[in-house]
Amino acid sequence: MNGTLEKIRGFAQGYEPELVALRRDFHRHPELSWEEFKTTDRIEEELGKIEGVKVLRRGFGGGDSGLTAEIAGKKTGAGTGRCVALRSDIDALPVQEENDVEYRSQTDGVMHACGHDGHMAGLITAARILSQLREEFSGTVRLVFEPAEESGVRGGAKVLVEEGALDGVDAIFGLHLFTTYPAGQVLYRSGPCMTSADGWDLVITGRGGHGSAPELAIDPTIAAFMFGSAVQTLISRETSPRETAVISVTSIETSSKTRNIIPESVKLMGATRTLGGELQDRLEAAMRRIVSGIAQTTRCTMELDYRRFYPAVINDPALTEILKDAALGLFGPEAVKEAPLNMVSEDFSFYGAVVPATFAQVGVGDLSRPATCCPHHSATFDLDESQLWRGAALHAGFALSFLNKA
Ligand SMILES: [Zn+2]
Ligand SMILES: [Zn+2]
Repeated sequence: MNGTLEKIRGFAQGYEPELVALRRDFHRHPELSWEEFKTTDRIEEELGKIEGVKVLRRGFGGGDSGLTAEIAGKKTGAGTGRCVALRSDIDALPVQEENDVEYRSQTDGVMHACGHDGHMAGLITAARILSQLREEFSGTVRLVFEPAEESGVRGGAKVLVEEGALDGVDAIFGLHLFTTYPAGQVLYRSGPCMTSADGWDLVITGRGGHGSAPELAIDPTIAAFMFGSAVQTLISRETSPRETAVISVTSIETSSKTRNIIPESVKLMGATRTLGGELQDRLEAAMRRIVSGIAQTTRCTMELDYRRFYPAVINDPALTEILKDAALGLFGPEAVKEAPLNMVSEDFSFYGAVVPATFAQVGVGDLSRPATCCPHHSATFDLDESQLWRGAALHAGFALSFLNKA
């Protein structure tokens, strides 16, 4: 197998100029969740140039974005009849790019600020590599280009699963480029890897009035302040220090726009992250308890709209072992690390609910170039392109290692 990984590494590095050019092209033309029409055109066009790649389906969720394709190996043996899926997300974000680079976004207010441009270019490059190595694997590799990972409310992965994108698949692999890890690092993690994302809106309604006469009003800001501090006790006093959870209030807005009016209502928004299971249920229930208690105390009406968006990403241990071995064979021990638990969320978790799955992280933050160390989703986000080949190599290396395993 090591000979094959050696070849994959060589191909991935050899394709680097095309890979970077493709990433830049995706970067110039970002599209929002469920609107990735030109992006899907471009993916289809690129896959059409690769021998042995067959498009299975274009268009998911009732629209025309997203695509699945397959590439079959020609070897007979261990993996015959098996199918491994490789996934890339394809959407961008409603962010106005501030980078002054040749490849900056040409669409006002939309930007690839999470690295999904690099994911797409990496997976297309992996398809090119796999096409060169068809004699060296048996079974099938399915390429999954998923729309709307960033959507939250209607993530693409759930829709793809419901619409059969993983039918016949035995395992799935995905990765994310992260500026928060040093350039060149490749990280694996068995078991819990990323947290679930729950989001909630709380609308507090009282009775508005003059700022000079609070006794005639029912002030909803008091309920908002009480909620803001009470909700944090769910972490500090009702969650064990050994458990993983975070609650953040991220938005507060009142119906009053000036100093001498007590508002009629206050709206708060926030997010709760856990590893799912009993703790997720417990925190949601406790939040409802706090809301009803404060409503009673303050005479306000409080309505909590609590929604569970993405479950936690839990990596299959056996697949993660295959990933780790492939990564070590491709990049050597100094580049490969066990990842800490990442408190961000990924809708890749919906795949893991139906087939064994593992999710890797690849560092693209080059400390010597501060531009590549900006937070994801920020207007100055960029990545170290010299690491993109690692993503492509990891896709191909994982697929072949899985299929060729007896
Ligand atoms: Zn993102
Ligand atoms: Zn992302």
